[in-house]
Formats: sequence, C-alpha cells, structure tokens
Amino acid sequence: MRLSKSFIKTLRDAPKDETARNGALLTRAGYIHKEMAGVYDYLPLGLRVIENIKGIIRGELNALGCQEVLMSALQNPEPWEKTGRFSDAEVDIWFKTEVASGGLLGLAPTHEEPITEMLKSYISSYKDLPLYVYQFQTKFRNELRAKSGILRGREFLMKDLYSFHASEEDLDKFYAEVEGAYARIFDRLGLGADTFETFASGGIFSKYSHEYQTFLPVGEDTVYYNEDKSAVLNKEVYNDEVLSDLGVAGQKFSETTAAEVGNIFKLKFKYSEPLGLKFGDENNEQKTVYMGCYGIGVSRVMGVIAEKFADDKGLVWPETVAPYKYYLVAIGDDAAKLADELYAGHEEEVLYDDRDVRPGEKFADAELMGIPYRIVISGKTLEQSAVEIADRATGESKLVGIEEVKNLLTK
Ligand code: ATP
Ligand code: MG
Repeated sequence: MRLSKSFIKTLRDAPKDETARNGALLTRAGYIHKEMAGVYDYLPLGLRVIENIKGIIRGELNALGCQEVLMSALQNPEPWEKTGRFSDAEVDIWFKTEVASGGLLGLAPTHEEPITEMLKSYISSYKDLPLYVYQFQTKFRNELRAKSGILRGREFLMKDLYSFHASEEDLDKFYAEVEGAYARIFDRLGLGADTFETFASGGIFSKYSHEYQTFLPVGEDTVYYNEDKSAVLNKEVYNDEVLSDLGVAGQKFSETTAAEVGNIFKLKFKYSEPLGLKFGDENNEQKTVYMGCYGIGVSRVMGVIAEKFADDKGLVWPETVAPYKYYLVAIGDDAAKLADELYAGHEEEVLYDDRDVRPGEKFADAELMGIPYRIVISGKTLEQSAVEIADRATGESKLVGIEEVKNLLTK
C-alpha cells in the first residue's frame, strides 16, 4: 500500500474517552476507529491484522479436518427457549431486537443453540460423525464493563468451533487434538511464551473446562500458577480441593492477572439433549450426539498482542500477524526511484511511505504502526549500493545490499 493513496492517518492523541492502552495505541496508529464504548471499526491496517490471525487459526483447524461455515448474526429465539437461555435471567448480556411482524429476535452472543438446531438437518447416522464445524463470526454482548478497548467489545469477532461425536471417547480424543492445535496457534501468534492452558470451572458436565490465559498486566482475570507453570488455575477453582485433585497440593503458587484468549468445553449432551440432536447407531438405535465447543477471541487476541509487545514508541507486531512486513522510506529523488522499483509487485508486503512529509515523521509513524522492518533508502546508503533495514522489535539496523533486498522481497 502507498500511504499517499491511503486514507489512514496516525493521530497525535487518542480519543479522550479511550482509557485502554490497546485502544489508544491502535487508534493513534490508524488500525481501528472507535464508534462508541466497546464498538470499533477495523481500518485497512487493522483488518489485515485480523485476517492474519484468522489465517493462522484457519490453517490449524482445517488441518484437523474442521469445516468452516458462516452462520447468521440474527437469531431465532426458538432453540434458545428450548434450552432456557433466551430468558434474561439466564443470560443477561443479550441484545434483542423487535421484528416488524411482532416478537423478538436475538443478536448472536454465541452459537451453541443455532448450530445444534441447524445440524439436525445434516446428522442422522453414526456415518455422519464425527463432525467439526467452525466459523469466524461477529458476536454481540451487552457487556457491563466495556472499557478495555478491543479486549472487551460489545461487538467482537470470535472463532467458535463445535464438535459432534458418537461417543465420549471420540469427544475426548478430539478435545486433545484441539489442545494441540491451540498450543500451535498461540505459538504462531507470538503469544506462546505467556499463554497457558488454565483450569477453570467446568459447569454442567465435566469437572473443569480449560481456558487459554495470556499473562498480561491489564488482563481482567486472576490466575494462580506454580513455579514451572505446569499448573495454572483460574481464581474461581483455586482451592485446596482442586489443588489436591490436580496433584499439586503443597506447591508454591503465585498470583497474576491474565486475559482469556480462548476456552474449550466438553458440553456432552448440554445442548444436543434439549434440542434433540440424535443419530442412529450401527443397530439403528437413536442416541444423543456428544458435543464440544472451542472458542478463541479473535479481536481480543489482536488487543492482547498490541498490549503485550508495545513499547514507548508504539506498537510492535510479531511478523506473523503484522499488516505489512516492511515499511519503506526513501530520502531524495534517486532513492525514490529505487523505492518505486522495490515496491512494484510487492504491494502485499510493503507499506510504502511515499507521502510528502519529513523523514522524521515517517520514522515516527513506522515505529507507531509497529511494522517489523523499516527499509530506508538515502543518498548515503546508495553510495554503498545498499539500503538500511531496521528491526522494530530490537531496534537494531544494518546495511543490506540492493540485490539482496530484491531477493528478500521476491521470496
Ligand atoms: P469473559 O470471561 O472474558 O467474558 P467468556 O467466558 O464470556 O469470556 P466465551 O463466551 O467462552 O467467553 O467466548 C469465547 C472467547 O471469546 C473468550 O475466550 C474470549 O477470548 C472472547 N470474548 C468473550 N467475550 C468477549 C468480549 N466481550 N470482547 C472480546 N472478546 C470476547
Ligand atoms: Mg463473558
């Protein structure tokens, strides 16, 4: 992208009501625009980060044999009434809207009921199982506290995966495969070192569920971890009974704050039973389908990465999610000629700052936007038939020969 052709502008100041660092930085750097508390637009740079996060998740899930769909955001209350979850007493974060012909529709806070209902049309026999279906979908929740930037939206993007099985063993097996995929996903997102599978309250069927918690000063959750971090527990299950249950009683635990970036649940019959999702087994006996569900907060992950790596100059994206890999700056006419040449054909990896502004301003914006590598071409570097490449994360820079740069780009 040529910055001169883009409507993106960095801002000197964040909006006054933006108290969260991720929200302030992402706004100043031109990634998001705030509509109102907990509601954000994703601008060209921000959308590219979201798409990169989705790409990593999609790759790992497709490798497990998961199939991607896109379900509706407007929801029929009927299946929710069958599970009792349409009532405000059960779920108080619903946005509901009136239909012209009378009655209410829900704006999707999650999709367990609709997907269970939908799959009644497609699952009838053991031959249809197992089945793994996921989506990237906008969720709406009337969150009381929407003051954490994109960490807690009233509208946000979630990846939700649902699995359907003929037996509990099969559910357990797939659950373990998802645990493996989640570890790879958070590694590839750059969060692997600080993200831990965490024991949390399980709800109805299993004793525990698992959350994926990224240790983060501004995280809203409190977790406890032992010395080698082999056991991490959400505060809600941190008690003597659970510690002995997990075989870690007597170990030293420390407290920290964390952000929940994902979670996985064995639902068993929680939704399939009330909604009547059944299959015929080998003897054509009707059995209830076993289910699991697995979430990742895609937009929250973006906020967590922003918070985690930012420094006093701005954002610092891991290469895997950065909107562009290179930020290109030319100083002088000869340099601009080479820059044009380098840019041609590499519009997807190079953000070309060809604006008519001072180099200092370009350098500051490159840092604020957090693009991993800044390429500067100037009279000085050209004298050595080279360009300067600076690493945003380490601050180190080096001269690289022009031919070598061409090779870097064409890769
Ligand atoms: P939390 O305890 O943070 O409210 P949750 O338990 O309500 O999360 P789920 O319903 O399981 O979350 O949603 C799956 C994932 O979606 C969460 O792990 C989290 O990463 C993300 N998420 C949940 N609520 C929000 C929100 N309001 N804004 C952004 N992401 C969210
Ligand atoms: Mg919640």
